[in-house]
Amino acid sequence: MGEKKCPNCSKWSSWSTDIHETCEHCGASLGGKDLEYHLIREKENKANHEKWIFYIKETDSSFVRNSKIVGNFFYTIYMAIITFLVWLIAMMPG
Ligand SMILES: [Zn+2]
Repeated sequence: MGEKKCPNCSKWSSWSTDIHETCEHCGASLGGKDLEYHLIREKENKANHEKWIFYIKETDSSFVRNSKIVGNFFYTIYMAIITFLVWLIAMMPG
């Protein structure tokens, strides 16, 4: 258990290093910029994840689900081969 200076009212508030905790004086989020950054990153990660072509949604039928699993599998192998080739080319002398 520690203390953190509130980014809003500048008073010291007890803080258990949880980024989501709020100030006991004004109720503002103690995370401040860190929390903002954290939330933005979380949102971006989620957006990237959902944009992924093989992302399995709750609403997908089992056929679509299976197709995506297979697609994801082959895509992973494909990427592994590409990565290997790039590595091979990089390793070649001259
Ligand atoms: Zn405060």
